[in-house]
Amino acid sequence: MDDFDKVITEELDRWQQAGKVARFWLRDDDAIEPTAPLERLLEIASAFSVPLTLAVIPAYTGEPLAKRLEQEPSCSVTVHGWAHINHAGDGEKKRELGGHRPVLQVLNELGQGFEHLAELHRDRFVPVLVPPWNRIDAALVPHLPGLGFEALSVYGPEKPSALTVVNTHVDVMDWQGTRGGRDRMALVTETVARLRHMFDHGGSMGLLTHHLVHDQAVWDFMTAFFKTTTRHPACRWSTVTDILRESASLTDGSGG
Ligand SMILES: [Zn+2]
Repeated sequence: MDDFDKVITEELDRWQQAGKVARFWLRDDDAIEPTAPLERLLEIASAFSVPLTLAVIPAYTGEPLAKRLEQEPSCSVTVHGWAHINHAGDGEKKRELGGHRPVLQVLNELGQGFEHLAELHRDRFVPVLVPPWNRIDAALVPHLPGLGFEALSVYGPEKPSALTVVNTHVDVMDWQGTRGGRDRMALVTETVARLRHMFDHGGSMGLLTHHLVHDQAVWDFMTAFFKTTTRHPACRWSTVTDILRESASLTDGSGG
């Protein structure tokens, strides 16, 4: 067992001793069509029986992806904005769903994206909005249930919101630096920090990936991470639907 295995296994052992199970989920962004990297992602996920949640860009996707995913019973599809276009100015952080355009215009696009993916993907479709670049203007959020959205998924610790939030917490990519995969010990350290938070406060551990830009380091990390976690009885990789169901019951239980 190397350090990577040891660190994560020790934390999961603590969960097991406490009779607890940690929920993990995998969100992968920017799918449009079947590609070689998508095949690789589907292969790794299915080799370890890890359910996959794809954030699909509605404006550019169609039948070919829907046809391909018909063969993947544990793959869910969520709405990744509309066209993944940046409307923020120079020097601002990138945003498609920022406050740069009239609210109605943005909502029209999101409604169109919702309908398009719901029709293409039917049973695989889950009414969750994944904002491009993980950013959405707060003024848009109260309008999302009116379009049919039941939850929002961004990156980082969940914050109070008008809508159920089911976030990702560990991002495999080094976006600011090499634009390749991050150091695997750093990823495991972040995972353990998230698990410690969950141990006391509940919630789930969302792993964020971007199949189109993975280098070999990312694929290797995913394989090693799935290998270690899936064989541990205190870890359960779940569909986004199960994660949502659990977070809804927690919210009900706390009276909030
Ligand atoms: Zn994206």
